Amino acid sequence: MNSIRENIEQIRARMDAAALAAGRDPKEIQLCAASKMNDAERVQEAVRGGVDCCGENRVQELTEKQPKGAYTGKPVHFIGHLQTNKVNKVVGAVDLIQSVDRPELLAAIDKEARKKGIVQDILLEVNIGAEASKSGYSPEGAMETAAHMADFPGVHLRGLMAIPPISQNPGDNRKYFAQMANLFVDIDRKKYDNVTMVCLSMGMSDDYEDAIAEGSTMVRIGTAIFGARHYNK
Ligand SMILES: *Cc1c(COP(=O)(O)O)cnc(C)c1O
Repeated sequence: MNSIRENIEQIRARMDAAALAAGRDPKEIQLCAASKMNDAERVQEAVRGGVDCCGENRVQELTEKQPKGAYTGKPVHFIGHLQTNKVNKVVGAVDLIQSVDRPELLAAIDKEARKKGIVQDILLEVNIGAEASKSGYSPEGAMETAAHMADFPGVHLRGLMAIPPISQNPGDNRKYFAQMANLFVDIDRKKYDNVTMVCLSMGMSDDYEDAIAEGSTMVRIGTAIFGARHYNK
């Protein structure tokens, strides 16, 4: 089995090749280690192995691993479903909350950040496949929310995140990635107050090359870095 460092090197090589094939600069695309179910030591191994940031799904994992220095040296992002009653544990503890998926959460993060006297960077999560099982804004809802970001001085909108449907065949998700890239550019062109569109977070272990081909600026990779997760442990 490859080490975490070797896995990261291989992913980087494939990311760079996908960027060049699409006529893009490989330096435009960041690698986020989706660290769920990996302990602080393994996450720190990924940090030292050269990922650009870490992404945690669960508040409990974040609060356990952060004091152990899991993310030391790189930014940490929150990428999972966030309950409004846990917002106080995440706001100010992470560099970016990627998974702002509904108006109540946006309002709660804004309120908590203002209470703490900080500005929390966020992405809006878009339910690009319009799946009933997933939370997230519709593309129209994301556009509408971006237009009103000036009403939320406790946050700053830095882009969009998406988790497309589980694909049956390779390449199935390219259309969703392309729709996300269009939305990203559309919002950017509006030059809304309190919005700086720099991050388009999409692409995971199985489809990150397609995401890069369509314009992703951040891929979130778990399995391909750390190996398979064992949910029954
Ligand atoms: C787990 C996870 C990933 C990474 O998934 P892999 O298929 O293991 O690469 C990316 N984004 C989010 C939000 C995740 O929860």
